[in-house]
Amino acid sequence: MVELREFIGNFFLELIGLIAFYQRSPMDFFYFLIRASVQLHFTIYQINKLVQDLMADSDVTKKAGIFEYVLSGEKDPKLLNIRKFSDNDKRTKYKSQTNQAKKEGTSNCPICNTDKNYKHTDYVWKYKEMEGDHIKPWSEGGRTELSNLQMLCKHHNSMKSNY
Ligand SMILES: [Zn+2]
Repeated sequence: MVELREFIGNFFLELIGLIAFYQRSPMDFFYFLIRASVQLHFTIYQINKLVQDLMADSDVTKKAGIFEYVLSGEKDPKLLNIRKFSDNDKRTKYKSQTNQAKKEGTSNCPICNTDKNYKHTDYVWKYKEMEGDHIKPWSEGGRTELSNLQMLCKHHNSMKSNY
């Protein structure tokens, strides 16, 4: 938070700078004002558009966090409490991954299959030992739906960002 006194101080410094600018070259000054105004309106338009999209996004379960999320640079999806996968979807996916793993003699965690260092390439995890993961993260446009779900072991899920 910027201190109010500091803000007012900066504001007057800027004002003095702008007056000097105007006196030096009025035409450049007006050009500057118009450009600043266009930029400001464009920024407001972009923020409004983003807020509206997030309001309409059914995976955003905490609408109250939208403004803070947008104004802090869209870095922290935790503010939006992105919807988790349902137990039903997770069990469905767990069954199909596990059936396939048993058939092929591999792990039912797709990352364990390829992670030679972790040494679980043929380990079949229990349902409780796995977590639901967005294959394509929500922050990149992936939805919270069965087609975008994979079950990962807790070790590998914790290494992936959940958003
Ligand atoms: Zn794994």
